[in-house]
Amino acid sequence: MKLTFLGAVGTVTGSKYLIDAGDTRVLVDCGLFQGYKNLRLRNWAPLPVDPATIKSVILTHAHIDHSGYLPLLVKNGFKGPVYCTGATHDLCALLLPDSGFLQERDAEFANRHKFSKHRPALPLYTREDAERSLQSLRAMEFGQDYDLGAGLTLSFARAGHILGAALVRLSQDGVSVQFSGDLGRPEDPLMPPPAAVRQADYLVVESTYGDRRHDSRNPQDILAEIVNTTAARGGAVIIPAFAVGRTQSLLYHLHHLKAAGRIPNVPVFLDSPMAIDASEIYCRHQDDHRLSASACRNAFNVATYVYSVEDSKALDGNTMPMVLISASGMATGGRVLHHLKHFLPDPRNTIVFAGFQAGGTRGAALVAGAEAVKIHGAYVPAKAEIRSLSMFSAHADADEIIGWLQGFERAPRRTFVTHGEPVAADTLRHRVEEELGWTCHVPEYRDQTDLD
Ligand code: ZN
Repeated sequence: MKLTFLGAVGTVTGSKYLIDAGDTRVLVDCGLFQGYKNLRLRNWAPLPVDPATIKSVILTHAHIDHSGYLPLLVKNGFKGPVYCTGATHDLCALLLPDSGFLQERDAEFANRHKFSKHRPALPLYTREDAERSLQSLRAMEFGQDYDLGAGLTLSFARAGHILGAALVRLSQDGVSVQFSGDLGRPEDPLMPPPAAVRQADYLVVESTYGDRRHDSRNPQDILAEIVNTTAARGGAVIIPAFAVGRTQSLLYHLHHLKAAGRIPNVPVFLDSPMAIDASEIYCRHQDDHRLSASACRNAFNVATYVYSVEDSKALDGNTMPMVLISASGMATGGRVLHHLKHFLPDPRNTIVFAGFQAGGTRGAALVAGAEAVKIHGAYVPAKAEIRSLSMFSAHADADEIIGWLQGFERAPRRTFVTHGEPVAADTLRHRVEEELGWTCHVPEYRDQTDLD
């Protein structure tokens, strides 16, 4: 087997690992690049290999930075099956058309307001492209071996992280390569812990938080403190949240805080049709998370669901304290941009970021203390309180990644540290070498390596 790194190197986005295995060629993850413009431009450049030569795609999970390139891959000639777990299948059916819709809407918005350098600005792909690509998805089971042809075997194990997220293992002729995908946390109220892996010849491990330890304080305590202080000064709590994963965790915690009377009975709005649908998918996939059917319903019913654009806009006229959860999680698009334009300039409000903020995004700029951010072509002053809550992360932190690696009974021949910004990836590489004594490497874009 030969492994080529086509994304998630030097960055947390654009996950794509190409495996050439004799007569077959498969792509593990098919994600969009997000964040810095030079990375986003890679979405527009031709893929370094002809999509028609790829026999199949395997998705670790449904997040767009792991799945969002699929519509373009299909549009550009990929004709094979896309293997994923059942929940990933359902979540992709939700996320990919929405991604196409957002691409179309952003292009249309840019044209209307003439702030794109391109005339006319075109979408990377459309909703229709995304819907067409869904026909390639094949829902598979955890814990089974699947023959991909040419003697290549695939299996999925639970990764925690988000609903349906999987550790992916490929093997051929007695040689195995294990991909961590996005690694979840050992203790999460919603998600199971990542499955232990005992051995692999080669390992590709993520390093989103490879240089950091998550805040160990109780997330409910912090959320209560934020809601209480913001409501006391008459402000609104605005939470740009990933529709899948973070939103459900936030609703779970808000439900418990309200039930315990630890926060005032302020309205909670979930202004993201996609997050609403994602919550439904969580309740449907009972075996894939820790909540009972009734606990799932109760938790998600804490919020008033906002469907229409009119109702969404009306929220900006709300002068009473409230909690407003809206996508996208790094404030790169979606309805939350309109809310930020309205709520960001007022110091009574609090903007809460509850997940990793990739460099180059508005979320990263705000968390780093930017005095203003550009939204729809105009600068919006950032006077609201900005909070970043790493304890809500769906990713293992550095200690938790090392803990998972310690489950291996022997060192892989080589370990590749990916899916991290440069300092995070290199810090984790150093720890893996020092603490575990493993041979470890941080690959670069388009690096190629033989696995034999
Ligand atoms: Zn993810």
